[in-house]
Amino acid sequence: MPQPPTLKIKEIFASIQGEGLRCGEPTFFIRLAGCNRRCPWCDTKYAWRGGTSLTTDEIIKRIKKLHHVWPINWICLTGGEPLLQNIEELVLRLKQDGFFLQIETNATLYRNLQIDWWTISPKPPDYYFQPQFLTKAKEIKLVVSKELTFQIIKKIRQAFPPSVPLILQPQTNHLWSRKKAWQLLEESTTSGLPSLRLGLQFHKIFKLK
Ligand code: SF4
Repeated sequence: MPQPPTLKIKEIFASIQGEGLRCGEPTFFIRLAGCNRRCPWCDTKYAWRGGTSLTTDEIIKRIKKLHHVWPINWICLTGGEPLLQNIEELVLRLKQDGFFLQIETNATLYRNLQIDWWTISPKPPDYYFQPQFLTKAKEIKLVVSKELTFQIIKKIRQAFPPSVPLILQPQTNHLWSRKKAWQLLEESTTSGLPSLRLGLQFHKIFKLK
């Protein structure tokens, strides 16, 4: 008998969304295993490989168990890179169950999914993003790493409509990166680039996952 398809899942947990415009909002996280980038400063390297094979039914069962204790309605699909795996059925089922869905992606891949909140975070060295995100992204998050420059910010900012905020997020809240983020914000804003803001990783300040 054919077995139902599975997804490699690293973890499923309840927390707050610590990044971006949804910051502070209680959210369930489904972290998918695997990533097609290898950012040296990645803070979820443990998600690059491994993971438990779970069917859609098993994932939904775990979410419902969490929901029983904490009746919130936002789920964030994250990674690793969540679009590496075929999450079509999972997205469909979670939407049928009435959840709002966010996805955090490095934007190198695109799948036509019913997602309520696309967070894209293009990464070095090329900061490539799939063109479909020009109309889909609700926010752009750029990690203020050593590689990020004003020219990269300018190129990405000018590609998207100003209604899509671009968030400069210091790398792991480090002081050097916070200083760099401020300098880049100043340079970008005085150069006339619209809709830029600074972010932080709130979950790290609160010492949450
Ligand atoms: S794209 Fe994200 S998950 Fe993948 S290596 Fe870079 S920071 Fe880590």
